[in-house]
Amino acid sequence: MEYAYRYGDPDRLYLNGTNRCTNRCSFCIRYHARGLGGSVLWGGPEPDLNALQDAVLSCGAPEDFNEFIWCGFGEPTYRLDIITEAADWLHRGGATVRLNTNGHACLIHGRDVLAELAAAVDAVSVSLNAPNCQRYVELCLPDPGSVSGNEVKSPEDFWESTIDFLARAPEYFKEVQASVVGFTLSTEEIEETRILAHSIGIERFRVR
Ligand code: SF4
Repeated sequence: MEYAYRYGDPDRLYLNGTNRCTNRCSFCIRYHARGLGGSVLWGGPEPDLNALQDAVLSCGAPEDFNEFIWCGFGEPTYRLDIITEAADWLHRGGATVRLNTNGHACLIHGRDVLAELAAAVDAVSVSLNAPNCQRYVELCLPDPGSVSGNEVKSPEDFWESTIDFLARAPEYFKEVQASVVGFTLSTEEIEETRILAHSIGIERFRVR
């Protein structure tokens, strides 16, 4: 897998740290493609800090980019370690660091990690994906076996984790956005999801 890749805006660089994910979304691109924009993002070992830095440098110096986006072919917060380790180096040229996430970081790590993430990331986009728990479970198929810990998780725990992450995110990050995948929901469901996001304090809402 490639650890850094361009997709669209040349001033942005996307970072791919893992293929692991807590969900098995019916619409996930991973079931149809091995990568994006000519970059192979699937398979092979996950990067350590050196491998990530080499991948970034093969695209340009950190100072050459306005924004780095953690957006793996998987859920990036499995790699809280590398997100944290790379933060100062990525920020050194003044770029912002964004995280695209499904909001399951605290479930994955079995503790509250928002403060750790906030020390490394400026902005988050959280895939809310549904107006309620039932639709979330139908569309995103959370995998209870994807997180370790003593307590067995239910699919509903994953929805609650996303809502909790999103509701608390404005305390930690400069910019917070909730998103849905447009073609998976009806117009009414998209509006319901927008209202849900607003009800927990999230003003920025994007239909992808
Ligand atoms: S959360 Fe993202 S990476 Fe994971 S299955 Fe869903 S779309 Fe794919």
